[in-house]
Amino acid sequence: MREREPIEGVATRYWHRLPDGRVQCDLCPRFCKLREGQRGLCFVRGRAHDGMVLTTYGRSSGFCIDPIEKKPLNHFLPGTSVLSFGTAGCNLACKFCQNWDMSKSREMDTLADQASPELVAYMAEQAGARSIAFTYNDPIIFHEYAIDIAEACRRRGIRSVAVSSGYVTAEPRAEFYAHMDAVNVDLKAFSERFYHKLTGSELGPVLDTIRYIHHETDVWMELTTLLIPGENDSDGEIEAMAAWVRDELGPEVPMHFTAFHPDFRMLDYPATPPATLERARAIALKAGIRYAYTGNVHDKTGQSTYCHRCGQALIGRDWYQLSEWNLDASGRCSACGTPCAGVFESEPGHWGPRRLPVHPRSYRRAFEAAGGV
Ligand code: SF4
Ligand SMILES: [Zn+2]
Repeated sequence: MREREPIEGVATRYWHRLPDGRVQCDLCPRFCKLREGQRGLCFVRGRAHDGMVLTTYGRSSGFCIDPIEKKPLNHFLPGTSVLSFGTAGCNLACKFCQNWDMSKSREMDTLADQASPELVAYMAEQAGARSIAFTYNDPIIFHEYAIDIAEACRRRGIRSVAVSSGYVTAEPRAEFYAHMDAVNVDLKAFSERFYHKLTGSELGPVLDTIRYIHHETDVWMELTTLLIPGENDSDGEIEAMAAWVRDELGPEVPMHFTAFHPDFRMLDYPATPPATLERARAIALKAGIRYAYTGNVHDKTGQSTYCHRCGQALIGRDWYQLSEWNLDASGRCSACGTPCAGVFESEPGHWGPRRLPVHPRSYRRAFEAAGGV
């Protein structure tokens, strides 16, 4: 925890005062204990005015319109576009972070764009996006901003998607997921050793979050594991993870296995071979998981969705481009009538693989003219 004064931000909930005069943040299982002027490990929440404040409310590290499959979500409004954005900071310390320029930003100089929740919702609507995704860094640490955006989006019929590590305590978790429609949880590995050594956090609270989302909410959930050679890619670990998902959540929660590229503090590790992703997918399918995918590689077979009963390709994918659609209007296999798990409409979207950066300043004038604030 570094000291830096003064800390400005919006007041938050989920903290309490300790007998020794420090304030404890209760948002995530790190439970940072802070004196006046100190920031937590996430860097964007800190103690000011004898409470905890969020310093990144209304500030973004950039917006982009992506295919929903890029989150990755393969069973949530396939083919549609999503307005993606993030802020700065993170409550994990992953050595393999693939977004470290934002997630580990301490200077906030990446937070170029100012955007109120209403403006963000307006941007999503005007851009034709069906949903907004809180991504690039974990939305839990900008809890208040993400929830206000989700509420503004709901008023405009835009859904909210979280991409999260699931490292959050029970009460803020319940409030957060009451506002979400879909989530991709990073299940980074299936060992406490990995979580401790490479993320500076713990597996247990992440599994609690995954169980909570599945059993206590209506939020559509998919899981993603970034496979790092020699660290979390053994047959035994993938078998144990898939068995846990099957036994605790059932066979319908999709699992994604994605490729690691050397980054941040792990430049000495090799990229994940495509064969490792195919092996992981085969292990999950053998364990009884109905929908398992490879990611970050070209693999039409491993990225398409198949009917678990008759084997027909339901949704063909090549990278982020849909190539086949064999679901009927109610989301059932067109060959045998078996439902496919997920959130589908009668037709797929047509966004394709495009990635389109957008800027709040391009929308602000029209938004204000329309009476926005
Ligand atoms: S949210 Fe940030 S300040 Fe709060 S406990 Fe987690 S890392 Fe610490
Ligand atoms: Zn079928």
